[in-house]
Amino acid sequence: MIDARTAVRTERRYEPSSSAPPGLFLLVLNAGALAAGAGAVTFFLREKSPEIGALAAPILGSGAALLAMAAALSAVRGARVRVGPAGIAFEKGDLVRVPWYAVESLRVEGGALVVRGTSSFGAPVSEACNLHTHREAAAAIVAEARERVPAVLLGELPSGLEARAGAGEVVALEPLQIAGRRCAATGKPIAFEADGVACARCERVYLAAARPAACACGADL
Ligand SMILES: [Zn+2]
Repeated sequence: MIDARTAVRTERRYEPSSSAPPGLFLLVLNAGALAAGAGAVTFFLREKSPEIGALAAPILGSGAALLAMAAALSAVRGARVRVGPAGIAFEKGDLVRVPWYAVESLRVEGGALVVRGTSSFGAPVSEACNLHTHREAAAAIVAEARERVPAVLLGELPSGLEARAGAGEVVALEPLQIAGRRCAATGKPIAFEADGVACARCERVYLAAARPAACACGADL
């Protein structure tokens, strides 16, 4: 068994690709900023020239609309996703991480791979990885899940969803921590690292004294 505690831990980070043509976001953002600027200038000129002043509202309005469009274009891309030994993590301001042992299901729904489970902080998670804009991440999730927790893969998966070696950026992971967590078999807290063992496949932790022959995920301990 691989000692998950001493092995160097890394995961891969996937940037969503935009479904909009490249550069459209910046173009819309810049046009919005220009219109807002022009609107502000005409607003201040309204006392000298009422004709120019009358243009302020429509110019400001179009600037606001363009900026809102830029925000929508950026939101549609989705969060960055990380995939690795510690599970699936979504970069949503804070990192929302679903460890493999806490993934309940992975299923393709409406053009997205939907990840359902519980975060490392105990909160329910339901996040979608768009198969178009987040294809690399979705493929990596499916490939890792096949190795680690195949039972959570539900339903039909689209053909051609293959993980590409070298896709994503390698980022360092914190060492796996056992102390302070609860034994998956007994529910008892584990006070010291040396008192526990971790499953190399799903990262459930057990008190060494209470560990079963096989982890709940099926891997030998
Ligand atoms: Zn396991």
